Amino acid sequence: MKIGALQKFSMIDYEGKLSAIVFTQGCNFRCPYCHNPELVKPEKYQTPVPMEIVFSFLENRIGLLDAVVITGGEPTLHRDLHVFIKRIKDLGFLVKLDTNGTNPDVLEHLVKNDLVDYLAMDIKAPLSKYSQVTRCAVDISKISRSIELIKTSGVEHEFRSTLVKNLLTEDEILDIGNLLGKKTRYFLQNFVPAKTVNEKFMQAVPLPLERINILLDKFHLNYSEVYVR
Ligand code: SF4
Repeated sequence: MKIGALQKFSMIDYEGKLSAIVFTQGCNFRCPYCHNPELVKPEKYQTPVPMEIVFSFLENRIGLLDAVVITGGEPTLHRDLHVFIKRIKDLGFLVKLDTNGTNPDVLEHLVKNDLVDYLAMDIKAPLSKYSQVTRCAVDISKISRSIELIKTSGVEHEFRSTLVKNLLTEDEILDIGNLLGKKTRYFLQNFVPAKTVNEKFMQAVPLPLERINILLDKFHLNYSEVYVR
């Protein structure tokens, strides 16, 4: 594991839980709006946080924190992710994993071995537009498999998409809803212009609030579990 950063406390990243957040280094996507370039672009990597620092911190938080959120970058790129999670769970913490869904085999192994308590997968676009949005060649069959695997895993889960004006049309966002199905927990997250992987994207704009409300109304005609975050 290469840990890019450790955030010691969060009340918002795992609903209803007090958590610490581990940010892994490295990602196989280049979403232009990504606000973690230091975890995505190798030339921006900082010295990794040593594993013993992470575990000595967690050992001191037993009984004080409920959970550890593992996010990135893309955590499933790390071959020893399951070993890392097992060690966290042996300390008694719940584990939430954020993923872009490119490694369904890893997700399957974690689910089968009861190593995750919550899965959150980003849906970048309708399947036909994945490569265009992520700026990478994408094996779409793996994205589809991850969606199905997570939906049928029995593990608490959510999907979420980032809304950027002119990146996805509103019809395309509704298409993502079709891809996920009507009873799936799906969060629409508006883009926040801050630092971005693609610096030109600093000028990108979030979807206007009135458009989001129209979109939500359309979703709620058929979907009950769609929210804005
Ligand atoms: S937003 Fe995209 S580039 Fe950034 S960490 Fe997530 S998948 Fe990787």
